[in-house]
Amino acid sequence: MSNNLEIVPLAAFSDNYIWILRRGKQAAVVDPGDAAPVLAYLQQHSLELCAILITHHHHDHIGGIAEILAYSLANSRAPAQLPTQLPTQLPIYGPADEAIAEVNRPLAGGDKVTLAELNTSFEVIAVPGHTRGHIAYYGPEIAEQGVLFCGDTLFACGCGRIFEGTAEQMWHSLSRIAALPAETKLYCAHEYTQANIRFALAVEPDNAALTARAAEVARLRAENLPTVPSTLACELATNPFLRWDAPAVIAAASRAGGGNPRQPELVFAAIREWKNKF
Ligand code: ZN
Ligand code: FE
Repeated sequence: MSNNLEIVPLAAFSDNYIWILRRGKQAAVVDPGDAAPVLAYLQQHSLELCAILITHHHHDHIGGIAEILAYSLANSRAPAQLPTQLPTQLPIYGPADEAIAEVNRPLAGGDKVTLAELNTSFEVIAVPGHTRGHIAYYGPEIAEQGVLFCGDTLFACGCGRIFEGTAEQMWHSLSRIAALPAETKLYCAHEYTQANIRFALAVEPDNAALTARAAEVARLRAENLPTVPSTLACELATNPFLRWDAPAVIAAASRAGGGNPRQPELVFAAIREWKNKF
């Protein structure tokens, strides 16, 4: 089994997930906001870090990079006379459009990331909205059904706040995600699901799939278990921020004061506005 790529959540702060990808003795980490849980996990499992992947510039996603770097350089087996050569640096992937000091592999939408040590690769999808340069990492060949590391763009039953982009940009970004294969597993960066479901039920009280999900999520959280990864199929059935075509969501958007329900980006914008005040 250790020859398969495994994806492991590390809880950080009050509700963040840092995702570890591991195969054999190699590992990569997505959005290490805090170094402590990452270093503890690597040590505990005797793993060597081969890459860091960053989705956007917020502190809870990048705050641990410097300390992880200091640790991995101190533990590198590089010859002492070559301390500053670039090829010995840990690759740190991240959005080219955002100022993140440690990123040394800047990426834009359409780029490909190959992690040879993990024998896997990702396609970069530009998903602006939460931040201006936010990117997501899509691994179509991972775990058969494909995986997406979507940072703070999509959450289980919710979506990120629009801090830097426009509602139209965010809607477009979510449309890109919605067009991936329905079996795609979604690795979100926060455990916000229960609060998101309370809002989703206000939007669509008669959605049976949502009611069933609420019960399942309540059961998981009662045992302090993660509610992610989710699947795109589940989100398409229950997440109000992907359901701009559903009559009940369009009606809710109109009631919330939201423009012309024939335009999906305006339905989305009205639901997002409502959630901001919910
Ligand atoms: Zn964020
Ligand atoms: Fe975050």
